[in-house]
Amino acid sequence: MALQLLLHSLDLKGEVIVPSFTFVATVNAISWEGLTPVFCDIDPRTHCLDPGQVVELITPDTVAILGVHLWGQPCYVEELQSIASEHGLHLIYDAAHAFLCSTAKGEFLGNFGLAEILSFHATKFINTFEGGAIVTNNDPLASKLRSIRNFGFAGLDATDCLGINAKMSEVSAAMGITSIESRSDFVDANKRNHQAYKLGLCEVAGTRLLGYDAQGSNNYQYIVVEIDSGIAGVTRDQIVEVLYWENIFARRYFYPGCHRLEPYKSNSLYRDIKLPCTDALGDSILLLPTGTSIAEADILCICNLMRLAMDYFSVEAPE
Ligand SMILES: *Cc1c(COP(=O)(O)O)cnc(C)c1O
Repeated sequence: MALQLLLHSLDLKGEVIVPSFTFVATVNAISWEGLTPVFCDIDPRTHCLDPGQVVELITPDTVAILGVHLWGQPCYVEELQSIASEHGLHLIYDAAHAFLCSTAKGEFLGNFGLAEILSFHATKFINTFEGGAIVTNNDPLASKLRSIRNFGFAGLDATDCLGINAKMSEVSAAMGITSIESRSDFVDANKRNHQAYKLGLCEVAGTRLLGYDAQGSNNYQYIVVEIDSGIAGVTRDQIVEVLYWENIFARRYFYPGCHRLEPYKSNSLYRDIKLPCTDALGDSILLLPTGTSIAEADILCICNLMRLAMDYFSVEAPE
């Protein structure tokens, strides 16, 4: 809703450049607003939008760039800002993962582009059950968005635009306040878990745990592991299967890339699209459980299970 309201408020027509390696909601918001998503590949190192490829996708119909701060990492904010300024494009961000995250210089995400959106879904760092927010340093935009969020009301009996009901309920807000109060406990638990996975995964061949830049702040909310099946001797999907057997719900975020999901997959517009980094990462990535309800012993157990999965699948079946 936050992305839709934001795009709606800009009154655009045309193409929006967006990564395919994101949650499908990012792309769907563009489509719901009658705009055309143009999928861009990512930098395989950071998993964020590749600025070099963004430039190549700009056409006379391009109106905006929608970057995603994946796993709370800043999405090349300086490069994208100069591309947007040079080509006269709107720049907005999906910062659903990025509450309490900053650049290496300590500038908090939420401050970049024209505006950014946050998600407070129960799976995110701050939880309001369901909910989100738009953050911007642009005051006129903020007041326009407040009006759109509340049916377009500008006064008691007056509306000034096409609004909708996108208000947060009180009970969700109360949950959010509680969640915000616990933010440093969440960061500590996530950081401890990340460290424990780092140690545990050292022993598991063919795994690469995504690190967090020690220079900036992060919420350490995502335990992102890439599986090199050539070295591991098993595929990512086989590891996921073994973990599921043991009730460990590792997730394949974001698999498949949005261009391989409906309604994009069967749209002829995207038939010849080539996103090699998105496809390769989608096939090799694994997100492991973290948060306050997991202990270091559980993490050790998960790492051992991954090693077991590798042994199990790499042993040839007996005659
Ligand atoms: C979770 C998520 C969303 C959607 O957020 P909701 O609050 O569930 O609508 C959008 N983008 C990204 C990158 C997400 O991870």
